[in-house]
Amino acid sequence: TAWTPVIDTALRGRKAHLPETHPTYFEQPINMVRARDCRFYDEHGRAYLDALNNVTLVGHCHPRLVAAATRQLGRLNTNSRFVYDLLSEYAERLTATLPDGLDVVYFVNSGSEANDLALRISRYLTKRDDVVIIDDAYHGYTTVVADVSPSRYRHYGKPDTTHPTPVPDRYRGAYGYDDPQAGAKYAAHVIETFDRLAAEGRAPAAYLFEALLAGGGQVVLPPGYLAPIFAAAAERGIVTIADEVQVGFGRLGEAFWGFQTQGPDVVPDMVTMGKSMGNGFPVAALVTTREISRAFDPTGRFFSTYGGNPVACAVGLELLGIMEEEDLQRNALTTGGYLLERLGGLAGRHELIGDVRGQGFYSGVEFVRDRRTKEPASEETLMICERLKDEGVLVYPTGPHWNILKLKPPLSFTPAMADEFAAALDRVLEAGW
Ligand code: PMP
Repeated sequence: TAWTPVIDTALRGRKAHLPETHPTYFEQPINMVRARDCRFYDEHGRAYLDALNNVTLVGHCHPRLVAAATRQLGRLNTNSRFVYDLLSEYAERLTATLPDGLDVVYFVNSGSEANDLALRISRYLTKRDDVVIIDDAYHGYTTVVADVSPSRYRHYGKPDTTHPTPVPDRYRGAYGYDDPQAGAKYAAHVIETFDRLAAEGRAPAAYLFEALLAGGGQVVLPPGYLAPIFAAAAERGIVTIADEVQVGFGRLGEAFWGFQTQGPDVVPDMVTMGKSMGNGFPVAALVTTREISRAFDPTGRFFSTYGGNPVACAVGLELLGIMEEEDLQRNALTTGGYLLERLGGLAGRHELIGDVRGQGFYSGVEFVRDRRTKEPASEETLMICERLKDEGVLVYPTGPHWNILKLKPPLSFTPAMADEFAAALDRVLEAGW
């Protein structure tokens, strides 16, 4: 009998048993068999450079992480009503990465759960319901967080309690890269929203934000954006929640946490984290202050069966050790900066590139049909990703118009890999389509 590629069987199986709209990367997906460091390998043994990974921080299948997870799985795995020292050791190590005061951890299993809990606590403490967000954000899939995620509620209508504010996008927005006051001007819209809501008798419970906007299109927050918002929120009793699910754990290079890139005055009341935290293994958390935790939880309102399980703690703890010993945050800064430079160089050669932006290993290349009108080159962007895949390089579009390459490689990405990526993109853009 003829050999059937595994990809065909895999896709048939998905069609039979998953919702028909279940997303896949690429029109012609790849059957992934294994991965190591910054490369995936398909069923034919072909290697693909991974520049799109959402969750892999220290490289795929890092031998130390694999050993830590398997060792712990063979030793003890249970729920956190039992006492094991890995949990306290991990909580101690994790909170040491955050500013003083943020030292109580609620371990959960996904970014959605962490944000859901953050909103629940904020609403309980403030006795208010409304939430101010940045437009085009994505904060997760549960009912509560879909309601603060424009790309989700767009399909069923914006809830009354959600208040999107303008994306502080200096490429497309009202205040551009040439405006040194852009940060303060975008912040003023947020503060006006706080005040308008208070005047309507519905002061907000929380301000929920990301420090580099993925759904918004790889938008770097302008300097001076968060500090005035935080000062205003503190005066008005609004809880500030940093969603670090995408940006946390050293990815932005200059700081371990994304909010720290906006200056020392920016200290959120709550920080939510996931994705990178377990390098692909489900580990997530909400970290807050003792004061908030006591006010919310005097009689034990929270428990998660899997949150903080011993294997999750072993993985999370090992990951922090690897980050430090392999100096990966520094690599995000230096090699991430180099990658941005290489991409910026391509903008001089290809008209289609409208903007290149990012911080550390979290960058975006925005494609436009016309640099003056900035018409999004959406179909082209998808084609470019398919062609890059044929070149053995993986990256995927993001943004409200799907015209921005989202670059999010593991932090172990090397300068040679940055060259490999830039050369492949150059070839694809040169060849046209
Ligand atoms: N917040 C942000 C910023 C995210 O990007 C995501 C996932 N894409 C989530 C929250 C939800 O995380 P999860 O899929 O782990 O529930």
